[in-house]
Amino acid sequence: MHDTISILLINPWIADFAAYNLWAEPLGLFYIASALKAAGGSLFYIDCLESGDKTPCALKPNGCSKYKRRIVDPPVPLQGIRRSFAIYGMEDEEFDRRLSGVPRPDIVLVTSHMTYWYPGVFRTIEMIRARFGPDLPVLLGGIYATLCTRHARKKSGATRVYRGTGTKDLLPMIEDMTGKRFTARRFTTYHTLDDFSSSAWPLHELGPKRRFFAVLTSRGCPFSCTYCASFLLNGEFSARAPGSVVSEIDTYAGLLKTRNVAFYDDALLVNADDHILPILRSLEGWGGGLRFHLPNGIHARFITGEIASAFKRSGVETIRVGLETSDPALQKQTGSKTTNEEYLRAVALFRNVGYERNAVGTYVIAGIPGQTAGQVARSIEFVHKAGAACYLSCFSPIPETPAWRKAVICSRFPVEEEPLYQNNSLYLLGLSEYTQKTVRELQSMAADFRKER
Ligand code: SF4
Repeated sequence: MHDTISILLINPWIADFAAYNLWAEPLGLFYIASALKAAGGSLFYIDCLESGDKTPCALKPNGCSKYKRRIVDPPVPLQGIRRSFAIYGMEDEEFDRRLSGVPRPDIVLVTSHMTYWYPGVFRTIEMIRARFGPDLPVLLGGIYATLCTRHARKKSGATRVYRGTGTKDLLPMIEDMTGKRFTARRFTTYHTLDDFSSSAWPLHELGPKRRFFAVLTSRGCPFSCTYCASFLLNGEFSARAPGSVVSEIDTYAGLLKTRNVAFYDDALLVNADDHILPILRSLEGWGGGLRFHLPNGIHARFITGEIASAFKRSGVETIRVGLETSDPALQKQTGSKTTNEEYLRAVALFRNVGYERNAVGTYVIAGIPGQTAGQVARSIEFVHKAGAACYLSCFSPIPETPAWRKAVICSRFPVEEEPLYQNNSLYLLGLSEYTQKTVRELQSMAADFRKER
C-alpha cells in the first residue's frame, strides 16, 4: 500500500544589490515537478519572487519586469559596501500567508540559484521552519546547493542538501526522508533531467501567470570555457527531438496565453540544420507570431545567413552573440569558443537581415583572471564597432570551474570561504586592477555606445 507524498516546492527569495527579471523561470524545479507528478506526488508550489499582492512593477511587453523589493541590512561580510542590499520578491507576511494556505506537506523542496544569493534561501528555510516546525523534512537543491554543497550542509538549516540536477537519486531520497513510497513507480523509467533527449516537459503551469515561459531545446554545451559551469551542472551535451520542442511551445503558448518564449539553451545552434532550423520553421507564423528571446549568448561560429534569416522570419527578437572578450590571447586561454573574425561575420549577418543594433547584444566580461581594465575597454569598443550593443558583465567566479583557483588567488576577499564574495557586483572590487570608479567608467562607456544607432 502506497501513500501519496505531498510535496511543497519553493522558489526562494533573491538577496542581492540588484536583480531584474530577464525571463527568469525556475525551469529545473519545474522539470523535477514533472517527475514528481508522474511518480504520483501531490504538489504545491510557492514562488517567493512573484508577489500576488500587486501587479508586477513595470512589466514590459517582452515579458521582462522588475521584482518587488525591500531594502534590508546586508549580511555582515557586505557591511561597508555603499550600495543598497535588498530581498527581491514578496513580503514575509505574504510568504507566511501562502505557507499557511497549503496543507502541511510531507516534505518541502527548496531550489537555489546563484551561489551568492544564499541569504534569500536561508531566510526562506527559516520561515518554513517557523511555520511548520523543526521536524518537517526540508530538502535543498539547485545551483548553490550543487556548487557550494559543504557550505549549504553546514549553514542552510535544510534537513538534507541534494547535489546535482537529475531525479534518479532524488526520488528515493524523498521516500527515505518522508518514510512514504510514491504511488506510481514510473520514475524508475521516467527520469527527466537524467535522460534529457527524451525528457518529459517541465510543469510550466505550476508558476503564476506570466508573460513568458522558458524552453530548453538542448542541455549542456560542447565547449568548455574556463569560467563556465555548464559542464558541471549539465554534463554532456544532449538535444531534444525538434518535434517535442515544437509541441511544448505550441501547447504552452496556448495554455499560458503568451507569445514570449525564452530559450535557455547554452548551445542553441549546435547541429542547427537538424535542430533549431526545423523548430523555427514549424513555429513560423504561429497564431499571429511568437516572440523568441535568447538571453544566453549563441555561438558566433555556427551562425550562417540561413540562420540569421530564419531568426528574422520566425520572430526571434532578442539575440545575444557570445564573445566575452576581444583579446585573442584571452579568448584562447579561456576556451576558444570564438574568434574576432567569426564574431564580426556573425554580427554582420544579423545586421544584413534587418536587425537593429539593440536587438543584437553582446556581453563583455570584466574581471576574468589575468585580464586588464584596458582589455575590457577595447572589447567594448570592438563590439560597438562590429555593430552590436555591448553590455558589461562583471565576472563572477564559480566554484569547481577551471578559472576558480586563479580567481580565488587574485582577490583580496575570502572568495572561497564566503560565497557572498562571488557576487559579480563585488568580486571585481577585490581585484587590484579595478576600483568603483573604473567599473563605473566601463559601464558608462558601454551604456553611451548603446545609445548610438
Ligand atoms: S560556450 Fe558558453 S555555455 Fe559553452 S562553455 Fe563556453 S561560456 Fe559555457
